[in-house]
Amino acid sequence: MRYVLRLSSGQAYYARLTVAYNDHMNNEQLLNRSRAAVWHPCTQMKSMETLPLVPIARGSGAWLIDFDGKRYLDAVSSWWVNLFGHGNPRINTALHAQLDTLEHVMLAGFTHQPVIELSERLAALTGLGHAFYASDGASATEIALKMSFHFWRNTGQPAKTRFISLANSYHGETLGALSVTDVALFRDTYAPLLMHSHQVPSPDWRLAAPGQSAQSHATHCAQALDNWLAQHHAETAALIIEPLVQCAAGMGMYHASYLTQARAICERYQVHLIADEIAVGFGRTGTLFAVEQAGIRPDFICLSKGITGGYLPLSAVLTTDAIYAAFYDNDVHRGFLHSHSYTGNALACRAALATLDIFANDDVIHANQSLAMRFNLILEPLAGHPLVKNFRHQGMIWAFEVKSDNPAFARNFYQAALQRGLLLRPIGNTVYFMPPYILSPDEMQLLADGVMSILDALAVV
Ligand SMILES: *Cc1c(COP(=O)(O)O)cnc(C)c1O
Repeated sequence: MRYVLRLSSGQAYYARLTVAYNDHMNNEQLLNRSRAAVWHPCTQMKSMETLPLVPIARGSGAWLIDFDGKRYLDAVSSWWVNLFGHGNPRINTALHAQLDTLEHVMLAGFTHQPVIELSERLAALTGLGHAFYASDGASATEIALKMSFHFWRNTGQPAKTRFISLANSYHGETLGALSVTDVALFRDTYAPLLMHSHQVPSPDWRLAAPGQSAQSHATHCAQALDNWLAQHHAETAALIIEPLVQCAAGMGMYHASYLTQARAICERYQVHLIADEIAVGFGRTGTLFAVEQAGIRPDFICLSKGITGGYLPLSAVLTTDAIYAAFYDNDVHRGFLHSHSYTGNALACRAALATLDIFANDDVIHANQSLAMRFNLILEPLAGHPLVKNFRHQGMIWAFEVKSDNPAFARNFYQAALQRGLLLRPIGNTVYFMPPYILSPDEMQLLADGVMSILDALAVV
């Protein structure tokens, strides 16, 4: 008894020490340690000499809180992944339960309940099936590209080795995904390593000729796709596309008729259509999946980002029965021999199931429609600001260009937003909001007012 008591007081002492240690952690120390030990993504590390990191202590709802207690409204859903807020109680509960049951088991030769249930539910929601899992978006792109090529090889068309994508497309940073990505900043350095791909014109309506409607621009681009495939279909395996919104291109939005036409064209030329819904899936564009708005079914769908509500890395590729059947054979080489160590991780699948439960129980797609209508009203003054151009909205994405010649616009805006307690990361001159779906009208007002004040400050300079 004495011993137990002494042990527990020792633990309490240790706990006090830990708390004291954490209390003394301040932003300054942490950002210096991080700079020294962590190689941060998508960053020239030297820029941190003048643009300090923001160490985050905790998250709650739409807010991130640093070690000095300063709060930041996460208006970009932590790189487009968070759907229902940080520290969501329902996802937390589901994860706690899963932790007590099974954290992970290899998926080759084994299976488990969360991965089965998630695959069944994703199949019911997408109209595709045979979910193949990885841990991030770029891996999902790789899987879809490899599967498409391998399907044609298995079905006697090994010459179909090429991929096409849209101008300004973004499909991830690994070599295969980068090969179908058309963002010079990410791509040019590695160009000598990339496989050859072709970009067809983008239906992004910002690129329409003066006076041309979004729909007629979409048709014009579909015609260009048709022309390309008329010449090159025999060597083309697939078209990979970001349905409705090319997010990394600066939230380039386009008319759904492009998807309908691209579906028909791909069908006609026997070319797969890969829908990369990594960013736009899970309600971002107003429907659960963006392809629904064109009434089409792709041959492959790539999912990630919001799939776990922003909790854990998980991605999935789903495809048709016909494609799956071409791999199903006595010959092992006709199978899809691709894997990742964490394929189908049980915790990540559980977070995804909890996320799907929230969609179903709260009728999120429907609720977001009224939320978006309220946000549109709140954003009206901003849309009319003299520095704002191309104000646009699709589902739970808002974007506009700011008229500015300052080459450091994105960085300056980011810093000005942080000072006002807003997390916003413009892409070039494009400012966008991609908030978690739990943002309140008051929080949206705060965001709108903050951005107005930054723009007013810009206008004065
Ligand atoms: C983010 C993104 C990817 C890559 O996902 P990662 O998890 O960052 O590898 C691929 N495609 C699109 C459309 C994306 O937005």
